[in-house]
Amino acid sequence: MRLKTFLYFADFVFYPLASAALVAVALLLKQPPRWDEAAVGFACGLLLWSLAEYVIHRFALHGPAYLAALHDMHHADPRALVGSPLWLSLSSICLGSLLPVWLLVGFGSACTVTAGLMLGYIYFGALHHVIHHYRLKRGSYLWRLKRRHTRHHYGKTPCNFGVVTSIWDRVFGTYCPE
Ligand SMILES: [Zn+2]
Ligand SMILES: [Zn+2]
Repeated sequence: MRLKTFLYFADFVFYPLASAALVAVALLLKQPPRWDEAAVGFACGLLLWSLAEYVIHRFALHGPAYLAALHDMHHADPRALVGSPLWLSLSSICLGSLLPVWLLVGFGSACTVTAGLMLGYIYFGALHHVIHHYRLKRGSYLWRLKRRHTRHHYGKTPCNFGVVTSIWDRVFGTYCPE
């Protein structure tokens, strides 16, 4: 949905801080995860985000009519400040990551996994903003991401749902070359 400028950019401050706070909470527990466990948890969170990004974009935002109509605002005007309000993204992250991972493997791991997922989410937000709002140097990494995502916006067949990575598009057969 269309967001006020302040709310759109608030994510870029809130999520890096929230991610760091979760790592700090995990490390301050009575029985903190070991450094290697924390690193693996964080990496799992990043990977989990990349898959969540693909699934949400492909099956929710290009799925049911109500959600597709919201996402169409972005497709119709890619430079508009469209996104998820903080309350929605944060509650989704808590219900989709923090709580289930806590119940499955414990609070410390839930913190590190969710910290990774939050950083993945805001990395996605930053990349997506940059590729729609900036002129990028031809041949650069960001320019190639932009070409891939432009194919999602303007291609004839629905493809390239991943922004952060093309891995899941390649796995699930929705990858289109730039
Ligand atoms: Zn889309
Ligand atoms: Zn876009």
